[in-house]
Amino acid sequence: MTGKPCILCCAITGSLPTKANNPAVPISISEQVESSHEAVEAGATIIHAHVRNDDQTPSSDPEKFALLKEGLEKHCPGVIIQFSTGGRSGAGQTRGGMLPLRPDMASLSVGSNNFPTRVYENPPDLVAWLASEMVKYDITAEVEAFDLSHILKAIEMHKAGHLYGNLYVQFVMGVKNAMPADKEVFDYYVQTMTRRAPQAQWCAAGIGPTQLLVNEWAIAAGGHTRAGLEDNVRLDRDRLAPSNAALIKRAADLCEKYERPVATIAQAREMLGLRPA
Ligand SMILES: [Zn+2]
Repeated sequence: MTGKPCILCCAITGSLPTKANNPAVPISISEQVESSHEAVEAGATIIHAHVRNDDQTPSSDPEKFALLKEGLEKHCPGVIIQFSTGGRSGAGQTRGGMLPLRPDMASLSVGSNNFPTRVYENPPDLVAWLASEMVKYDITAEVEAFDLSHILKAIEMHKAGHLYGNLYVQFVMGVKNAMPADKEVFDYYVQTMTRRAPQAQWCAAGIGPTQLLVNEWAIAAGGHTRAGLEDNVRLDRDRLAPSNAALIKRAADLCEKYERPVATIAQAREMLGLRPA
């Protein structure tokens, strides 16, 4: 296969799904490390991680993030570790409390929108502070774009030197009350990145039943993509996904269909401009 390598990101846990939704959702640190290891074997090179309390509620405890980082470094050597600074696990600056641990990457939301039952609040001063912490600790941001304006804001922040390293934008589609998984919107997102930030890499994630669809759009269009139980706990209407690895495997199979090699850890690090493992 000669196409551009495709980076597969696995969103292993998230803030919301519980064992009641799917028993395969990894909650404890050891479950998270085990599930990540399987996903890496299936082709994932980025692990996007949140941490949880013992009762499965979301946590922003830096000590838990430290334990997870240690486990991933030991059992998935070289894998790109990406911590979430998303807003469900804490408020204000507690969202970035784990950044001094210097993960390779961290997610960054640069604007506000609605989520299924609440406002996803990302005020400009908090966005600027999270970005400045990432610059301080040499952490590449994965900007989570829930809307077109977030893509334009990310490009503007990168041009102004407010984001560390290379620009990397993820289109998140299919969140209820935010941008649906609409192919023409997706195409416009891609065109916008190509037109305004031609050097940048982009990826895309679809939530719930749109996961596989958005995986396919992204792979066909030359981008990178994300799968995993954070975004979707099912294989189809009737079957739960047995693991994170099973969802990554589906994306890897699509790479084969479109003749794109699945990126190795070294290729992913190089494409994203990260330090070598
Ligand atoms: Zn997340």
